[in-house]
Amino acid sequence: MARHEYYDDGSTDKQQCPRCGDTFLGDYDDRLHCGQCSYTEFK
Ligand SMILES: [Zn+2]
Repeated sequence: MARHEYYDDGSTDKQQCPRCGDTFLGDYDDRLHCGQCSYTEFK
């Protein structure tokens, strides 16, 4: 319940795109998707 404390370094429970580095991956049912470079990571 203390996730707000992690906003300091820009990281939340969201994952960042390994290609873009500064873009968060969209969280879908079975995968994470970067809308900028189309990188997809299956869970
Ligand atoms: Zn990306």
